[in-house]
Amino acid sequence: MPDYNVIKLTAAPDVEQLACWDVVIVGAGPAGLAAGLTTAHRGLTTLVVEAKNEPGGQPHFLYPDKVIADIPGFPEGVSGEELARRQYQQAVDALVQFRFEEELVAIDDVQTKERELKRVVTNRGSYLCRRVILACGLLHFPRRLPVLEDVDSPCVQYRLPRDRDLKGMHVLIVGGGDSALDAALMVLGRGGQVELLVRKPQLAGRQEALDRVRAAGGTVRTSTEITAAQAEGDQLRVTLTGGRECVVPLVIVQIGYLAGRETFERLGLRLQEDGGVAVDQYYETSRPGIFAVGDVHGDIKLVPVAWADGIQAAIYAFKEITSPYWLNEKRLHDQRLALLQEKLALIDKHAGGKPDHTA
Ligand SMILES: Cc1cc2nc3c(=O)[nH]c(=O)nc-3n(C[C@H](O)[C@H](O)[C@H](O)COP(=O)(O)OP(=O)(O)OC[C@H]3O[C@@H](n4cnc5c(N)ncnc54)[C@H](O)[C@@H]3O)c2cc1C
Repeated sequence: MPDYNVIKLTAAPDVEQLACWDVVIVGAGPAGLAAGLTTAHRGLTTLVVEAKNEPGGQPHFLYPDKVIADIPGFPEGVSGEELARRQYQQAVDALVQFRFEEELVAIDDVQTKERELKRVVTNRGSYLCRRVILACGLLHFPRRLPVLEDVDSPCVQYRLPRDRDLKGMHVLIVGGGDSALDAALMVLGRGGQVELLVRKPQLAGRQEALDRVRAAGGTVRTSTEITAAQAEGDQLRVTLTGGRECVVPLVIVQIGYLAGRETFERLGLRLQEDGGVAVDQYYETSRPGIFAVGDVHGDIKLVPVAWADGIQAAIYAFKEITSPYWLNEKRLHDQRLALLQEKLALIDKHAGGKPDHTA
């Protein structure tokens, strides 16, 4: 038995007239798009706000050319670009509404006579809603390379420039993780020549990807860093460890990403040790009514995992909106159980580590 009836909205909600959305989702990456599709399929009015000017998240912005091999249902693989396009189209068809170039600033609690609501404040406006799903990834801001910080040149990029012809071009890629190897493969796939600069003696990325980079003609230099750089016409002159100099048209830096810790702290959310947002088993954060899904909290950072998170949180949000008593009872039960466990742990502690639950 399905847990819901698909309610097909026949027309997009009149956004101007809508006083309150059922669900506002922050981020149009895999997790946010999956959550939006799920709530919209259940007849909830759903708005997605996205900081960038296009949907798709990491697959679209960070590895559009990469053929992703581990997505169930795509035996030939699917490019990041195509996957993002399909997911967005499906959400649009389900009448999910989108606001691009809107970045989350705050989430306020709003108490009305009938119920508690949330107000999602962005840099451009605000939206009243019943539930919020945070799906804004952990990888929003690329980590900068200090030696290139003051170099004002389009030759320095933090992701592969889209639609740029790289045939025969000498491209330096900085980094030794999976993202750097993926960037190297994409450059090689577009006919560029890759020199991968890795600070450490060994790479952290997948051996299989490294083998493919080498097989495609890429050069890997371990224990090598950029020690100095300066713009020279429309190129960049860089000095490497050991003093070697070269002039290149493009350097792509892929040394990881900064977490959105500041944003999450501002929202008053409890965080995990790794900086991700802490959630309970229903994907709800420490602030009731705000869920968090995908890379924003997850240990396993993969598209299908982000989908699964988004879908589950969307269903819990749907259940809370439509039949709160069911979930509340279960939650009360869970809370009681957690309290009991806490008490037992305390008793153990006072008994000097010798558990005795017979009393
Ligand atoms: C190079 C690379 C290769 C990868 N390869 C694979 C692979 O082969 N297979 C696989 O399964 N996974 C792969 N992954 C991981 C996968 O892409 C992520 O796990 C997945 O994208 C997480 O989805 P998400 O929706 O949680 O976050 P994201 O994809 O990061 O999407 C978050 C969205 O939220 C937006 N956002 C962020 N902050 C705000 C804000 N404050 N306000 C509004 N919007 C905001 C962002 O702009 C973004 O569009 C790879 C990742 C990288 C970096």
